[in-house]
Amino acid sequence: MKIPKNHPRRKSLEERARLERGFEKGVVAKAGLIAHGRGEAFDYLLGECTVPEAKKQVEAAAAMLVLAKRPVISVNGNTTALCAKEIVELAKAIPAEIEVNLFYRTKKRLRLIEKEFGKFGVKILGTRRTQKVPGLRSMRQHVDPRGIWAADVVLVMLEDGDRTEFLRRMGKKVIAVDLNPLSRTARKADVTIVDNVTRALPALAKNVKRMKVLGLRVAQETLNKYNNEDLLHKAWMRIRKGTG
Ligand code: ATP
Ligand code: MG
Repeated sequence: MKIPKNHPRRKSLEERARLERGFEKGVVAKAGLIAHGRGEAFDYLLGECTVPEAKKQVEAAAAMLVLAKRPVISVNGNTTALCAKEIVELAKAIPAEIEVNLFYRTKKRLRLIEKEFGKFGVKILGTRRTQKVPGLRSMRQHVDPRGIWAADVVLVMLEDGDRTEFLRRMGKKVIAVDLNPLSRTARKADVTIVDNVTRALPALAKNVKRMKVLGLRVAQETLNKYNNEDLLHKAWMRIRKGTG
């Protein structure tokens, strides 16, 4: 049977194909494929669509990005393979720096990811000279002095729980995109968008543009009213009740 265009199932098959190509090229790590499978499962449970909680989360994230002095978008292999173009569009809308940060950090993967963003004419940070996030043991500790090290707001996606915690200890605000409302990243971030990155990023770019028109006061009010824990709980209840 032919799956209609724009059907969520087709989109998810396309995403899987992008991940597979990314893996073959060396952009995506083996563990990245497993992480994607976890994401697919949660996406399925949420109805493969953007739930109302995510709309509020995106609004708050846009407000935080507009208010930021030095925002940075942190990218890894999966996000590069899935949505490099959307990341570039969001970075331009804010504007923000893009920095590569890898758990399985090798020179080859850094170079490959740099090349992917180079296709869009963007020079990313994080490939050379590094500072270290205090206390963080994994290779994710290496951050760029001009990027995450100096940032006030960091957007992380498909992220391991440890780094979010340490970035917060450094006094940074963290926005996470994570389909699992129970993950450590989801619970530790200041704003968590429970949605597929492929839907969250275009929505975020749109909201950033809108929030810029509305102005800084509206952005601040949006953040003041925002309650991450409450929305995470609602997203989790949605999964439990099967109303996704
Ligand atoms: P944590 O370390 O935060 O407790 P974890 O160990 O389960 O989480 P990681 O591999 O560290 O998971 O991070 C990957 C996270 O990204 C998972 O929570 C997964 O559900 C989520 N994820 C995977 N694919 C996507 C996607 N396309 N969009 C959004 N989130 C995704
Ligand atoms: Mg983890």
